[in-house]
Amino acid sequence: MASQPLQVAGVAVSPDHYIDGQRVASASRFALHSPIDQRLLGEVAEGEPAHVEAAIAAAERAFPAWAALTAAERQPYLDRFADEIGRRAEAFCLLESNDAGVLLSRMQHGVVPRAMQNIRWFAAHALGLQDRPIDTEQAHHRVRHDPAGVVVVITPWNAPLMLSTWKLGPALAAGNTCILKPPEWAPLTCSLLADAAHAAGLPPGVFNVVQGAGATTGAQLVADPRIARVSFTGSVPTAKRIAQAAGANLVPCSLELGGKSPFIVLEDADIDAAAATGALMYRNAGQVCLAGTRFLVHQRVGDRFVAAMRATVERLQVGDPREPSTEVGPIIHPRQVERVLGYIDRAVAGGAQLLWGGKPHPFGAQYVQPTMLTGLQQSDEIVQNEVFGPVLTLQTFAGDDEAVALANGTDYGLGGVCYGETTHATAVADRVRTGFIWINSFGIRDLAAPFGGIKRSGIGREGGDWSFEFFCDVKDVVVPKKPFTPSFSHR
Ligand code: NAD
Repeated sequence: MASQPLQVAGVAVSPDHYIDGQRVASASRFALHSPIDQRLLGEVAEGEPAHVEAAIAAAERAFPAWAALTAAERQPYLDRFADEIGRRAEAFCLLESNDAGVLLSRMQHGVVPRAMQNIRWFAAHALGLQDRPIDTEQAHHRVRHDPAGVVVVITPWNAPLMLSTWKLGPALAAGNTCILKPPEWAPLTCSLLADAAHAAGLPPGVFNVVQGAGATTGAQLVADPRIARVSFTGSVPTAKRIAQAAGANLVPCSLELGGKSPFIVLEDADIDAAAATGALMYRNAGQVCLAGTRFLVHQRVGDRFVAAMRATVERLQVGDPREPSTEVGPIIHPRQVERVLGYIDRAVAGGAQLLWGGKPHPFGAQYVQPTMLTGLQQSDEIVQNEVFGPVLTLQTFAGDDEAVALANGTDYGLGGVCYGETTHATAVADRVRTGFIWINSFGIRDLAAPFGGIKRSGIGREGGDWSFEFFCDVKDVVVPKKPFTPSFSHR
């Protein structure tokens, strides 16, 4: 039986799982607090082994009929799914702002429109996947993209709605059935996503949500041999566990992980423009995988850059993410606040200098001042490790070779930013080993373009055809043009 909905910021949201087209309550629950002010938002269902089992069984049952539809037949379901997200836009914004601390303005203008687009765009793009022909002298090849089966989607707390729909869009459009395991610190928009899917008429079992902790619910899901794909976004240690569990069953994983991306400012850069973009690295309180968190600045423009960025950062409004004027909101969880401050304290104790920030922000318990550290060695932990908070580092370099060496001198390889005269910046950017890099800009994304990292930042690419290559079984159906002659010596 379904539980009473929680009331969060005036929005009614189910605390239950969503399995086989129905809300499923759990005897075990976990408490959810808002990062804005630590108030209790409610208790949500914790996944038990039977819930995971029920979700996998439901997704398996639903798979043959959903997979049998053509992409064109699936498209109206997914368009309605996007419409139903749009119908609940305000509720999605309020929920994610309250449970994840994301700026309400960013939810309204960025995240919710993008979530709708994630579903709609992949549904349309899947139409082009059908039966690609390859014509050779010998044969007609028909390359099919068949759905793989039951897909597990696991997402982190820093962008639950965006990242869940970014994976569900292509997975569902390709004909897979899905089980979403939302982040335990911010599960509410994923629960509302189930309402949207239900209202859109997605057949029972096509889309399921099982809430719970990663170490239990998540681990059970990814270790199950009936799963065809695991699509994961999160941290490196979790990715290693998931890869091991899925690897035991030879199940392909897509792993989108952390970053320590360089933000390079060349001598010929527009310093004011670079500094204004640089301040954006505090977006979402620095809890952004693709942020350029390591500033590498040419030594001859270092002082000018620091002065320009300081002026921008001093004006940043830190505070309640629900206020339209706020630019930097809270950190997700007290444990994460402690982690972020620990990184700053150890860096300072090790000899680093604070250019600005470095302390808890007086606005509230889960707020940290936008911080910049300098006077660092490349081997320092704060240069090497992802902090995932409003903490940036600045190092200087004397020439392009040094800039590239510093940029490439971590185990991560997600993204990057390079400011400079365009031809020069492009030449430097080409030598930086990451999955993507922005020249004189930041954050420009297109659903058709590949997204993902190298080295410890991940395995695989998402976006456009890359998403479908992952979520599909590619099959070549070969019909010879001439009558086939059986021969043992023929290759
Ligand atoms: P996390 O790895 O702790 O958790 C991510 C998800 O994995 C959660 O839903 C969690 O419950 C689940 N999980 C944990 N252990 C599991 C297990 N053993 N089996 C299955 N699932 C398990 O990450 P986080 O702290 O929630 O998120 C922050 C991390 O995510 C950062 O490292 C950040 O860089 C990364 N991230 C990457 C991208 C990208 O696209 N590359 C985007 C956003 C965030």
